[in-house]
Amino acid sequence: MDAIKEFFRDQAQCLRQEVWELARQIGERPELGYKEYFASEVLCTYLRKQGFEVTQGIAGVETAFLARFSGTRPGPRIAYLAEYDALPGVGHGCGHNLIGAASAGAAVVLSKSLDLAGEVLVIGSPAEETSGAKVTLVKEGVFKDVDAAIMFHPGSQNVPVISSLALDALEFTFHGRAAHSVAATNFGINALDAVINFFVGINALKKQIPSDMKINGIITEGGTVPNIIPERAVARFYIRARKRKDLDELREKVIRCAEGAATMVSAQMTWQKFEFSYDEMHTNLALADCFTKNLREMGIHQIASPQTAMGSVDMGNVSRAVPAIHPYLTLGTGTEIPHTRDFAQAALSHEGESLVKLAMLTLALTGWDVLSDKKLMQQIKREFRAVK
Ligand SMILES: [Zn+2]
Repeated sequence: MDAIKEFFRDQAQCLRQEVWELARQIGERPELGYKEYFASEVLCTYLRKQGFEVTQGIAGVETAFLARFSGTRPGPRIAYLAEYDALPGVGHGCGHNLIGAASAGAAVVLSKSLDLAGEVLVIGSPAEETSGAKVTLVKEGVFKDVDAAIMFHPGSQNVPVISSLALDALEFTFHGRAAHSVAATNFGINALDAVINFFVGINALKKQIPSDMKINGIITEGGTVPNIIPERAVARFYIRARKRKDLDELREKVIRCAEGAATMVSAQMTWQKFEFSYDEMHTNLALADCFTKNLREMGIHQIASPQTAMGSVDMGNVSRAVPAIHPYLTLGTGTEIPHTRDFAQAALSHEGESLVKLAMLTLALTGWDVLSDKKLMQQIKREFRAVK
């Protein structure tokens, strides 16, 4: 390992306790998406104290932030993505407390260099679990002039190269006509029947789509009392596919099912997106290779081959705007299942502590390579343009 990387390793060693403290505090006080006031405050206070210029509340999102540290001379601009939202009922069952802390920690490690070219950003991006704020941040131009976007996510394996599924969140409302369920059956129009027809249609559709396309729905409204024919029924769906283009086609088919279901009982149907749409994740391979190389230098050799995460991440939208990576690193022994209380517990234990330290340093070393190695930067950009 060269001298500068040894220097960063020492810096990370010095900072590990305070960075873990950030993760612990956020982990012990879970907040849902767009309500992460405590978490964003903790991270912003720390970054400000470390000499970063911090703007809280960006792109119209109160709990988003942008922290900036400029090097001594011009160069590329890299962004570490900080997530810090929790899940209802299971707290930090996705370990986002570790993501926020590791990204802030990596940026601070880099800022200790007296020979830093370019700029290091930490972008606080709320609500990854629901209607991810990265979608808004991309749309509002926060990633304009960013050369690379980097983060990690705790998981059950070390996976530097991932793809994720594009996702649409669709809400269908069926409008009928209320009437007495027994005395006025021929006057009423049963919106619940429409929604039931819709689910039957969707089950048929599921048999005719490739196995990597996913349709999952629930009924959120289905009438009020049994003696009134339901005049309104609502269903919500997440639909997913490997590519945005295929998902756009699937969405049309799902909408046709809903239209047909409404027509069968003479109801009306309207639909809308109830959360932001996510695009599929394109991992920048040159950037991921650099991350992997640094991971090996940390003594980590169990590295899994590229994977398609069966879920969806708002980093997908970032990866279409700028070169990006979203590697997974093993939390503990990798046996805990994400989105469970056990995972949240592990993220708050010594397992979470050692993962934050590993992630912070690997992210910092990767950031250093991107800022200091012109050839690597060219390669990253060339690949990004080619994929686009
Ligand atoms: Zn997550």
